[in-house]
Amino acid sequence: MLKTKLFEMLDLKKEDMLRDRRWLHRYPELSYEEEKTSKYILQHYAGKDVKVESDIGGYGVKVTIDSGKPGKTLALRADFDALPLEEQTGLPFASENPGVMHACGHDAHTAYMMALADCLIELKDELVGKIVIIHQPAEEMPPGGALMMIQDGVLEGVDNVIGCHVMSQMDCGNICYHAGPTQLARAKFTIRVQGKGGHGSSPHEANDSIVIASQLVVNLQTIISRRLDPFEPGVLTIGSFDGKGQFNIIKDSVELIGDVRCLSDQTKQLIESEIRNICHGFEIAYSCKIDLDYKNDYPVLVNDEKITRFVVDAIESADIKGINRVLDYGPLPSSEDFAYYTEIVPSCFFFVGAKPQGESYPHHHPKFDIDEDSMIYAAKAMAAVVYKYMEEQK
Ligand code: MN
Repeated sequence: MLKTKLFEMLDLKKEDMLRDRRWLHRYPELSYEEEKTSKYILQHYAGKDVKVESDIGGYGVKVTIDSGKPGKTLALRADFDALPLEEQTGLPFASENPGVMHACGHDAHTAYMMALADCLIELKDELVGKIVIIHQPAEEMPPGGALMMIQDGVLEGVDNVIGCHVMSQMDCGNICYHAGPTQLARAKFTIRVQGKGGHGSSPHEANDSIVIASQLVVNLQTIISRRLDPFEPGVLTIGSFDGKGQFNIIKDSVELIGDVRCLSDQTKQLIESEIRNICHGFEIAYSCKIDLDYKNDYPVLVNDEKITRFVVDAIESADIKGINRVLDYGPLPSSEDFAYYTEIVPSCFFFVGAKPQGESYPHHHPKFDIDEDSMIYAAKAMAAVVYKYMEEQK
């Protein structure tokens, strides 16, 4: 039986997963710079009976496992970029690239996916349709590797995309999911307040950009507290206030950089237009010039209801040893460029608990780590989805 074979083969691949994850962890690369990572993946597939395409949307790799039989095409996605952080885990395989770290678990995604792909390649004759493996670069930084791979045609002929993410704060052995809007959309904006500089003793002859920008920061918060429906999530953060100057000089201009998150297109448009209105109003109220550069990046990640149900049923009915619970976790505040796939084909992105023994740190933390058993759970959960996908077509 395909499912039993897949699980047995994956159990034998545990050492490969560890070796690959640890190599990737030791040599992390930043988004858009993943040349060696991409090569490592390509080497993995070299000489195997499968179609491999490199440099898709940057350093992306597309692997097509074609059963030769008619049927649907299921894509499985794993990302592979790292973050600009100095690792502090003290792990024996800690990063050797200064200032770069796999602090989101994308090393684990790539490692389990290569192992699963090997099994599927070997069992090709027992499949129907095609399985596409999307090894994706640059998840962490807009415009995002997903968008770039899509622009390079990675989804042509693909019916559904499934992805998962290891989560360091969810219990290892749990699979978590949510249907519908699941991860927040994001925008980045820069505001330049142009006042008029002057002598600290003569404010009446100047137009103090620090005072204007300070009022602006407070006013922008009223969008969330006074304009949003209380049942609609929204976040607005000013993460940078560039107002450094001298004690006796009135500052000419100030730059603010901010971040917006929300869970619906309606809220997305509302927050942007309110920011524009407030900036415009400030120009009139304070006789200054305000430039706003507003860029939406990752959209809302919307898990298709039907496919998500399918994925959950597949994992639950596979009765995977070590997976204790499959639970609806609700939406998460972080953003994910997998969202772009969900905009195009019915897709599902779920979470694999990976809380390590002892203390666990959040993603993007210099001490971030995972329980490596999560890789076998991720691989088997995905294998269960593939199995059910095949069964439904027979
Ligand atoms: Mn991530």
